[in-house]
Amino acid sequence: RCATGEEVIAFALEHNVKLVNLKFCDLLGTWQHFTIGLDLLTPESFSEGIGFDGSSIRGWQGIQESDMLVMPDPYTAFIDPFIAEPTLSLICSIYDPITLQTYSKDPRSIAIRAEAYLKSTGIADTAYFGPEAEFFILDSVRYDNQANFAYYEVDSVEGIWNSGKENGQNLGYKIRHKEGYFPVPPADTLQDLRDQMVLTLESMGVKVERQHHEVATAGQAEIDIVYNTLLRIGDDMMMYKYIIKNTARKYGKTVTFMPKPIFGDNGSGMHTHQSLWKEGKPLFAGNRYAGLSEMALHYIGGIIKHAPALTAITNPTTNSFKRLVPGFEAPVNLAYSARNRSAAIRIPTYSANPKSKRIEFRTPDPSANPYLACAAMLMAGLDGIQNRIDPGEPMEKNIYELPPEELKNIPKVPDSLSGAIEALEKDHEFLMKGDVFTKDAIETLLTLRKKDYDMLRIRPHPLEFYMYYDI
Ligand code: GLU
Ligand code: MG
Ligand code: MG
Repeated sequence: RCATGEEVIAFALEHNVKLVNLKFCDLLGTWQHFTIGLDLLTPESFSEGIGFDGSSIRGWQGIQESDMLVMPDPYTAFIDPFIAEPTLSLICSIYDPITLQTYSKDPRSIAIRAEAYLKSTGIADTAYFGPEAEFFILDSVRYDNQANFAYYEVDSVEGIWNSGKENGQNLGYKIRHKEGYFPVPPADTLQDLRDQMVLTLESMGVKVERQHHEVATAGQAEIDIVYNTLLRIGDDMMMYKYIIKNTARKYGKTVTFMPKPIFGDNGSGMHTHQSLWKEGKPLFAGNRYAGLSEMALHYIGGIIKHAPALTAITNPTTNSFKRLVPGFEAPVNLAYSARNRSAAIRIPTYSANPKSKRIEFRTPDPSANPYLACAAMLMAGLDGIQNRIDPGEPMEKNIYELPPEELKNIPKVPDSLSGAIEALEKDHEFLMKGDVFTKDAIETLLTLRKKDYDMLRIRPHPLEFYMYYDI
């Protein structure tokens, strides 16, 4: 890993690179990029930035104020294996050229400001995040065929996804529904591809903990990377999506991180493990419930209290809420518990080591922008610590099977993006402490979410023809 601009330039020369690809993340969590010649990258570029047009990025600057700067981070230098010409790649933050401050609506800068705010509170100096993203690996098909993903086999008892039936595909041998998790090959046809993904991640400095087939029948996978600090885990997750999508493409497949591509089967979550540390000591280990500290319980209290608003950031798509339904290991109720996978917060109990004491928030999904999601969860947890928010009693029962009278007292996640938008509109002060999320950032996020919600809301849905055509 490089520490300075000089080191980056030496690294580039060593690898015979002539081009530099500058990558930055937009509000929706997509990497954007442009390429310059290596001769234009100087040691000063790392403190003065490099100009670009910020007006074409969704939710950013108007055309009248479109000049922006990318500020490359030397630590993120890597040789990009997916560009044919040997190319140095750098992950950048966005700066305002007038004030030379981090741009209010740059997700990476929001992560940087969240880390600074954490230190300023004196509560902890480091927050670790371990996101476990799941995704689907599907055959690469023409775009007009992909529209078939929306066709539901509504007549089948289990609601098995059966797109392609109409055009004569998918009639060959298939493993039985729900039995792809996790027998060895040949049932598992994606072992080799997942291995390639893991090896590429590792070769680019993203450490991997494990990979496996996931529960959904049609090519669902999980690859878990090793936990990291807030900013670095954001960078790691951006690398992760880039490497996974491009490796799939190389092998003629496509990957989707949309949370619920297939009705009637499991969706893709991004459970996020989190813990706070100070001066090298873990702060979440203690002698309260499940070996947690009082601070950890308050952190949980903050997450549960703000969870409805958080979902507008951790579950930011209309599709996100199709995952948050009972029966598919995705949480619906905002409760916490040791080991219980039907609760929104699980306290893993695999190890008694205080260093591995952490909480797992299971609500987020991989359509979230990782910088924003981790920053927002941290702010919710910190608010819980600052206000000593009581998380209530733990829930040890299978929540999916609770009788209605017991269920009604447990708070729930919103049931649509519109519910999440409403919750964030009412509850966002906790995000604005220390200017981590500025007012314009929150307003823009709300505008983007409303636009998505309306896009779907105003269109007749395929299922409506089934329900109402003959009415
Ligand atoms: N796919 C499930 C979800 O949507 C999680 C399965 C698991 O426990 O790993 O959250
Ligand atoms: Mg999983
Ligand atoms: Mg998990």
